[in-house]
Amino acid sequence: MKKINILSVVLLFSLITVTGQTNKPNIIILLVDDAGYADFGFAGSKDLKTPNLDRLAANGVVFTDAHVSASVCGPSRAGIMTGRYQQRFGFECNPPRDFTGISLDETTIGEAMQQVGYKTAAFGKWHLGDQPEYRPNVRGFDYYWGFLSGGRSYFSNKKNDREGESHSIRENDVFTTFEGYLTDRLGDKAVEFIGGNKDHPFFMYWAPNAVHTPMEASKEDLALFEDHPRQTLAAMTWALDRAVGNIVSKLEEENLLNNTLIFFLSDNGGAHNNASINLPLKGFKGNKYEGGHRVQFFMHWPKEINKGTYTGLSSALDIYATSIAATGEVAHPNKPLDGVNLIPYLKNEKQGAPHQQLFWRKDHEAAMRDAEHKLIRVSELGYRLYDLENNLGEDRDLCEVNNKQLQTMQSELKNWEKGLMIPLWTEGDTWDTITWMIHEDLYLNNKVRVKDIKQLKNWKQKKISK
Ligand code: CA
Repeated sequence: MKKINILSVVLLFSLITVTGQTNKPNIIILLVDDAGYADFGFAGSKDLKTPNLDRLAANGVVFTDAHVSASVCGPSRAGIMTGRYQQRFGFECNPPRDFTGISLDETTIGEAMQQVGYKTAAFGKWHLGDQPEYRPNVRGFDYYWGFLSGGRSYFSNKKNDREGESHSIRENDVFTTFEGYLTDRLGDKAVEFIGGNKDHPFFMYWAPNAVHTPMEASKEDLALFEDHPRQTLAAMTWALDRAVGNIVSKLEEENLLNNTLIFFLSDNGGAHNNASINLPLKGFKGNKYEGGHRVQFFMHWPKEINKGTYTGLSSALDIYATSIAATGEVAHPNKPLDGVNLIPYLKNEKQGAPHQQLFWRKDHEAAMRDAEHKLIRVSELGYRLYDLENNLGEDRDLCEVNNKQLQTMQSELKNWEKGLMIPLWTEGDTWDTITWMIHEDLYLNNKVRVKDIKQLKNWKQKKISK
């Protein structure tokens, strides 16, 4: 009698385990860095080659109006990681080194996925705090292979790869090094993780620093794009796509691809210094025009989501709620999420857009979407109002012609700000000046005078000599 009971328990347990395996999707976030809006084959690029990403996009849902919650790396990642506007916990600006990270009162997506029984892993750039209490292994990730800082060389070198250095590679917080090209190794490590966890649902945050500066590619990849006007970026993008291809091949080999939910996006728009192209959008990384925060975003989950295009206003903050919902479990983040589950919208079970409004703020610059309208506010420069449906290029200000809409959005933006903290840190006077000057030029539809510290120095010198 006792034996039978134990046997039934064992049988029941294995049944649950098997059912669990077959039903619960694996979830992967492919988060690339500073990629241009136009710089993927599936986005229409003619000169950058991304066959593996194109195949995923073609079999997934491509979003045409998706936005990250900040136009620079750190805050954008803090939003994805918490599913909440990062300004709510003071992570409004890029973190200076050795400063701080995501407030310990927040539940990260890694922690939430652990709560629902997933194995979790993060790869690549962290940029969410480099002090011990903010590192990946204590913020929800069972496994980590990557670097804590906001960027580094794609090759191993003496400057970056020293013990205790935040640019160095760590495996679970233990110093390690690597051979060859970093993007390739990040792909290999993800493939290894999939192989080791194929029998258990997993959550993977794969965040290569590609295609952030420094502009570095392998000799072999550069040789493929000889005479290309954007040779290094083309080679870096090719390597990025190859790493994604290897991850996808591993999922196929293990028969996991059909039931793996993959999100793909860039953490912000193309930067001014990596040869990226954000057309047809205005602006670039670091500013409140669409080129800063509207990003290429797709979801791939053949088992549950039909391929197609989705035009509803969506946010990278939605990845959190969507991931939890996809597991069929209930997680308990201790704060209300700003993002929503996107799946019912993609399945036509919910009508309307996931968001009527979205908000942005970094120090002196803020912005807001209200359906087709976009409001930008910059200290001392005032407001701009655009109608993105008719003017995606944001060069026709409607503040005067649509004063009613302006006033409504001004007050709703202020209302949203009541739920925010004063930024816990800022980026300093020099970057404040540069960012402000960029917005001044973009407000006036002028050519941008100054994009970095060196250009600011030259501009000041020229002004003095005049
Ligand atoms: Ca970035």
